[in-house]
Amino acid sequence: MLLDPWTLWLVVLVVGMLLAGSMLFVWLLTPEETALIYWAAFTGFLVAGVSAGMARGLIPDFVSIELGNAAILFAYGVMWCGLRRFDRRRPCLGYAFVAPVLWIALCQLPAFGESVGNRVMLISALIGVLVTLSLVQARRGWVVPSQPRLAVFVLLVVVLVLNLARIPLASTQVSDNQLVIFTHPRNAIIGLVAIGITIFLNCALVLLVRERAELIHRSAARRDELTGLLNRRGFAELATLCCMGAGPISLMLLDLDHFKQVNDRFGHATGDRVLVAFAQALRLNLRQADIVARIGGEEFAVLLPGATETAALQAAERIRSGFQSTINELGEEALHCSCSIGVAHTPLPPVEVDTMARARLEMLQRRADGALYEAKSNGRNRVAVAPFSLVH
Ligand code: GH3
Ligand code: MG
Ligand code: MG
Repeated sequence: MLLDPWTLWLVVLVVGMLLAGSMLFVWLLTPEETALIYWAAFTGFLVAGVSAGMARGLIPDFVSIELGNAAILFAYGVMWCGLRRFDRRRPCLGYAFVAPVLWIALCQLPAFGESVGNRVMLISALIGVLVTLSLVQARRGWVVPSQPRLAVFVLLVVVLVLNLARIPLASTQVSDNQLVIFTHPRNAIIGLVAIGITIFLNCALVLLVRERAELIHRSAARRDELTGLLNRRGFAELATLCCMGAGPISLMLLDLDHFKQVNDRFGHATGDRVLVAFAQALRLNLRQADIVARIGGEEFAVLLPGATETAALQAAERIRSGFQSTINELGEEALHCSCSIGVAHTPLPPVEVDTMARARLEMLQRRADGALYEAKSNGRNRVAVAPFSLVH
């Protein structure tokens, strides 16, 4: 395959600029994802470096060889910084300068500066280290199943392998002080593959950002804005999943007593602060594994996976007394508010089917609701437990 070097030079430049530009455009749409700026810079520096290398013979060697490769090394460093930024870690941009500086310094030594083979080996090894750093970061931040992250990971592995494959070829590289970089059949194919990988890598990175935006929207739709707890929808989804699990399970329904009077006497804003204080009491007195939600105005629900009836009752009492302390912290002297709690428990083995789990949850809710009604009619500010039922 014989490709016109100038056409290729133009293709690299135009494709690269378009990719970097579209990455910046995506950043304008999602300004909170500053990793996109790093990734736009990655493509920009990569293209600048590759273009300088391709223009060898037409521009001074210092620019095409030393600065060109320094730009490529900086690009891979910036890619690593972008991945760190995306995973909410400090980007450490300063480290991205280490490889380019090292490269330029070593090029001043006659052993490297004058040997094409040694230079190729050095640049491949340095790129190898930087891509490995990116791979480690891509793996570290991989906490939930993510297809875009898998794509980024695989593409980086391909970059690493192709780059390391250059090392054994380095010795066969002849001194080519002319514009032939892509005219050799092997180099032409490698060049086209590199352009393709860069395009795919950019797409995968954009998809990674989009995936997170979707995740944030989806989880916001399941959260209560005031208290930060799950809302009714989020609770139903998680609780149904939990009802499929093994072991005993308990459900609490909680309702603030005479809350309307709190609003009427102290105002809606104070009422809101009481709701937040109650959510705080729930967080402080429950385990990490418990599913806690605000399912209505001043109504809350807690599912306690694996909790025995006694453990659930103890947790309910802790919440009831804990609420008094969080209310006191609000600093409104005349403000009193208590809560009533209904508890239901089921010791049944796990169910496999989604619909059965939902039916079990509904039954638990009905029983806990009955217990809550009893707590209210017996004078409020108390915990009541649903009688054991064989019908679950
Ligand atoms: P009971 O002891 O029988 O539960 O009496 P209650 O006054 O707590 O119950 P009721 O259902 O009569 O009143 C609930 C009140 O909760 C009425 C409503 O204004 C208030 N409320 C619902 N959502 C919010 C909210 O988001 N913020 C505030 N401040 N109040 C709310
Ligand atoms: Mg109430
Ligand atoms: Mg109510």
